[in-house]
Formats: sequence, structure tokens, C-alpha cells
Amino acid sequence: MKKLHLLTAVCLASLLIAGCSQKDDLQDLQDDSSNLKSASVKTNYEVVPNELIVKFKDDVSAEAQTTALLKINGKVKEKIHTNAMKDKGDKLGVLLVSTPLQAFDAISKAKGLAEVLYAEPNYIYQHTATSNDTYYTNGSLWGMYGNATSPANQYGCQAGEAWAAEKTGSSSVYIGIIDEGYMYTHEDLAANAGVNPGEFGKTAGVDDDGNGYVDDVYGWDFDGNNNTVFDGVDDDHGTHVAGTIGGVGGNGKGVAGVCWNVKLLSAKFLGSRGGTTANAIKAVDYFTGLKTRVSNPVNIIATNNSWGGGGFSQALMDAITRANTAGILFIAAAGNSGTNNDATPSYPSGYDVANVIAVASITNTGALSSFSQYGATTVDLGAPGSGIYSTVPASTRVKNKTTITSGYANYSGTSMATPHVTGAAALYASTHPGASAATIKNAILSSAVQTASLSGKCVTGGRLNVSGF
Ligand code: CA
Repeated sequence: MKKLHLLTAVCLASLLIAGCSQKDDLQDLQDDSSNLKSASVKTNYEVVPNELIVKFKDDVSAEAQTTALLKINGKVKEKIHTNAMKDKGDKLGVLLVSTPLQAFDAISKAKGLAEVLYAEPNYIYQHTATSNDTYYTNGSLWGMYGNATSPANQYGCQAGEAWAAEKTGSSSVYIGIIDEGYMYTHEDLAANAGVNPGEFGKTAGVDDDGNGYVDDVYGWDFDGNNNTVFDGVDDDHGTHVAGTIGGVGGNGKGVAGVCWNVKLLSAKFLGSRGGTTANAIKAVDYFTGLKTRVSNPVNIIATNNSWGGGGFSQALMDAITRANTAGILFIAAAGNSGTNNDATPSYPSGYDVANVIAVASITNTGALSSFSQYGATTVDLGAPGSGIYSTVPASTRVKNKTTITSGYANYSGTSMATPHVTGAAALYASTHPGASAATIKNAILSSAVQTASLSGKCVTGGRLNVSGF
């Protein structure tokens, strides 16, 4: 209980920091145009040019919205009004608005309008993997070991001990991967590829389950706005993440994920140029909608969020809050800039919502990975993230024909640490059916093993220990 209380206090503090920082940035932007550039450099956030996200106050009519948007020469590019928003009584949703004005200029003008509740950038997020680590190409799954199974790999997450105790997961537990797409046909993932029961085996070309997405069998591609969640070798990051969560174990090939038996669903929103706030909101709400619907509900335990960038977004925080209400954990990468998230907030791992678990990366010698961001109050725990071997789509050329085949590769990043924790959440849920998100989070944080390199660098001061629950 003590830890939970500490966590609550810590989260409140982080909200204040985040809120102040955002206000200051936008205040700077409003002062004069010369500050626009300096603020932009200061925050270094990548945004979609000439776009903003606008939320009008509930009682503003469509005509009044149009009139207000004219003041920034704005046109509605897309109305985002998800089922998850409607379920919460949100009458208007949020608008993705295009404007000839510079985005931050339009935002500062929009914020001055009485009809507008908030206006913010359409940030661009990137996955949080670093490049391939060629020093770890021997296939060692150090991250899955622990002191009991391999003294030389004592800093792994001790999944091997859990497996030995016959804790290997359950096909009734679903995990949402918010990332690139993943190769659900991969030899080491296919058995754990989840399907949407509202669409699987139903009529092609029809939105059978009425969630707004036609034939979303394996999930949805919000970047391409279609149902092909796997688009080839560029979906390597999402596929790598999938393998660490739920690579099929005990099949004599490839790798083993933390949770050998689980169902994975995809909300692809990272494309070749990254992903946007607008699509992140839809991706988060997609899983909330699948879980909370009356017909064919899907038992989504957690989403894995190995991505980051951008500043504070009220619209995205609201989506994460809806996931929290639905009992879905939001497990997120701390980031790869090596900086202190307490001093410089990092999102989405820094959102002050109870379901967020922020994950730092450690090496196989127990050190904080050189790239890993940290934060005594804003990052929860560490997990293996340096030199992680997992599944990727590979390309093979035979007789002048290129085919996609099952491959494996070593990546490093807080992107790789995060799915270890997500796999742990799935494993816990498999042995504790019906456990709440708060219970699962508490189990993961309270079983963390105290680790010198993480002392004072995260809330628990420790690393993931899958054998602890
Ligand atoms: Ca559908």
C-alpha cells in the first residue's frame, strides 16, 4: 500500500510539472513571433505542419464551430469521434483541422477563441528503438533469464523461472500493440495472433461489428486507414515488440516471449514517417472500444506503447484516461534520449493516469542503458532493453521473386524494455483471471528487484521480476 500511495503522490506532482510546462510553452508562443522559433527549438517537438487538434466546448453549435475555424482559415480535415468517446458522453469528439497558418500560430489564435476548450499540435511520434546492435547477434535471450536459471544472466526478467513453474500464459488474455504493424504470420507469432471476434469469419467488406472499421480482423492500420496491419519488412519494430511480449515458447524455434500463450492485436499507427497524435488517439480508443462493447467484448489487459515524442496532449491524455476507466494498462517506453523525465517530461510515458507504467531500459550487466531516459518520480521500473533478440519480418529473394519470411534480430531501446513489462502483465493476468489493471500494476511494481543502477532513477528503484508473482 505504501508504494501505491507514493505512486499517487508522485503522479500528482508529474501532472503539475507537465501542466506548467505546456502552459509555459504556449505562453511563449503567444508572446510574439520571434518566440515561436525559440520555443520550437527549445521543445524540439516534431509536429504535422499546418494542422492542429481542436476541441470545442460541448454547447458550441456546428455553425459557431465553422465561424470560429474561419478565424484561423481552418478546415475540418477529420472529425475524430470514437465509440470510446461517445460512451463517455463526449458529444463532439475532437477535430483535426488544416490551416494555411503555421501550426503553432494557429494554435495560439484558436486558444484565444471563447468557443474552444483546447487546441494543440498534431505531434509526430517515433518508435523508441535504437539501431540494430551488432554486438548481440548471437541469439542470447539474456532478458528472459534470471539468477535461478542463469547466473551469468542474472539481470534478466526471470521469465525462465515463471515458465519452469508452468506459468506460460493464457489464450483468453489479449494485448494491444500500438506501434507499427506486426507480422502475424511469423512462424513464432502465428499461434498467438489474436483476431477480433466481431469480424473474424464474418462478411468481407462489411463492418460486421459496427466499430467503424471494415474487416478489422487482426486490428486496424490507422496510418494507412485500412485493415492490412502488416505491410512488409518496414513493420520490423512492431514485429520485434510482438515477439518479446508473446513469441511462441517451447516450439523449438526462434525466440520465446515473456508470455508464451497470449493473443496479440494490432493498432498500427506508426508509418514510415512516424505516427501522429490524431492517429494515436484513435489507436488507444480502438482497444478501449473492443473491450467495453456489449457484443463480442475482447479481454484487452494492456496496450504496449514503444513510442514517444511530442509534448503534452490533452486529447491523447483523455484517450489514455478512457483506457484506464476500461481497465486497460498503458505500458510505455521512457524514451531513448538518456535524459531525466522528471526535469523534462516525456510522453506518452509521462501522462499522469493511473494505468500508465513507464519503463526504462537496462543492460545485461544490470546497468541503466546509456540511451535510457529515467525519472525518480516519472518512470516506474527498468527491464531488459539492450541487445534484445526477437522476431522480425525478413526478405528473401528466390528466383527473382522477393518473399517475406520469418526472421530474428537484435534491437536495443526502451522500445524493447517495454514489451517485457507488457508480457509480464499478460502473464500475471493469465494466472489471476479478472485481476484489475491496478492490481496487475501493483504486482509488477511491488515485485521489482532493487537494482543499484536504478536507485533514485525510477519509482521502484528496481527491475522487472516476472518470477515475483
Ligand atoms: Ca469492424
